[in-house]
Amino acid sequence: PIEQLALDRALAKRFQHISPILSISYQKPIQMEAAAFQYMYDTSGNTFLDAYNNIPHVGHSHPKVVAAGQRQMSKLNTNTRYVYDVLGEYAEKLLSKFPKPLNKVFFVNSGSAASDLAIRMAKTHTKRQHIMVMEHGYHGNTQTSIDISDYKFSNKKGQGQKEYILKTSIPDSYRGKYTTTDAGVLFAKDAINELESTNESIAAFIAEPIVGCGGQVPLADGYLKEIYPAVRKQGGVCISDEVQTGFSRLGKYFWGFEMHEVIPDIVVLGKPMGNGHPIGAVVVTDEIAASFEKGVEFFSSFGGNPVSCAVGLTVLEVIEEEGLQQQAEEVGNYYQKELRKLQRKYPVIGDVRGAGLFIGIDMVHPETKNTNHQLAQYLKNELRNQNILISTDGPDDSVLKTKPPLCFTKNNVDEVIDAIDNAMLQFYK
Ligand code: PMP
Repeated sequence: PIEQLALDRALAKRFQHISPILSISYQKPIQMEAAAFQYMYDTSGNTFLDAYNNIPHVGHSHPKVVAAGQRQMSKLNTNTRYVYDVLGEYAEKLLSKFPKPLNKVFFVNSGSAASDLAIRMAKTHTKRQHIMVMEHGYHGNTQTSIDISDYKFSNKKGQGQKEYILKTSIPDSYRGKYTTTDAGVLFAKDAINELESTNESIAAFIAEPIVGCGGQVPLADGYLKEIYPAVRKQGGVCISDEVQTGFSRLGKYFWGFEMHEVIPDIVVLGKPMGNGHPIGAVVVTDEIAASFEKGVEFFSSFGGNPVSCAVGLTVLEVIEEEGLQQQAEEVGNYYQKELRKLQRKYPVIGDVRGAGLFIGIDMVHPETKNTNHQLAQYLKNELRNQNILISTDGPDDSVLKTKPPLCFTKNNVDEVIDAIDNAMLQFYK
């Protein structure tokens, strides 16, 4: 058919000029044409329900966000060496979402750039080099971000663990060493022991509140509350990577650190911040900003430009105007409840976890709880064939991840549940 010819042509051109190291989703790739809110449309006119993409946070091509970007782009786009109102306005609005000690923001253009800068600031502030990171964590694609991302450096094709990195076990109360209600405290005790037995004091401890690429694993309750004071006691700072968990996706919590009842010293932001427009940021305490200011000038050509600020500001306004935090909570709770019903029907669903519209479904071999890569891959591709987009991740790529735009509805949840149910019935037929 003509659509297949068009796809083949697009793929041929892509592979002629673009390295295959950039992967493509699904056994049957999708040639996308357009998207609106929680729907995406391919070039053949098929509609896909997007239960996966967390970057178009308030909805793909949200008209208010698009208009804000267009308006500012047609008027002025420049850099922070000039003075323009929208920089201060956006910074003020963004910082109003944080608890008091976090009151300075540095704008960049990606989560990777933000992680990189966060580490640099922690090193400058503490005058130390060593960083404690989490097993399976991911923080970005720059050299420093890779160095602190076990997900990448421990991959069989990865560069291995650098000498300045201290890696601690993921406090995973489903698969980890501890599974009781006090698992968080026990995991923290182990990590603190490791920390105290190293010769080098660390500059920082960095973790995601829910480990995203590592398999949508929420840090066990109570873990951060134990470990943050221990890190600070030995002079380090605590960094929360909120690239995936931030901006109210977790429903009850605007930031992931709130879920763990801690306040970090440095926060890393990205992805949903610009609803698809490339923005990232580092939010820090005055004290850390002051240490950083003693060094060489910080400048980013695009970080904090007026168009990005207008877009970012509008994303925050839309979250409030449309009650999206509450929607994430309500729809997310319903989603987890419906998934748990499916879990009772299919024991291959080992675990359903997350918060709000940040959900992981851990596919297992029920007898052993071993990862079930094959089934997860089957479900991802079968749902795609039923025009529903979800993806997989985790160390064995066996966890289904669903993190839709926050305008996702309960009806949309029902569609996903029915599709998984149908796919399972076919698989076990
Ligand atoms: N931190 C986390 C937790 C992420 O998930 C990602 C991206 N998957 C990044 C940082 C890097 O962000 P970016 O791809 O925008 O550079």
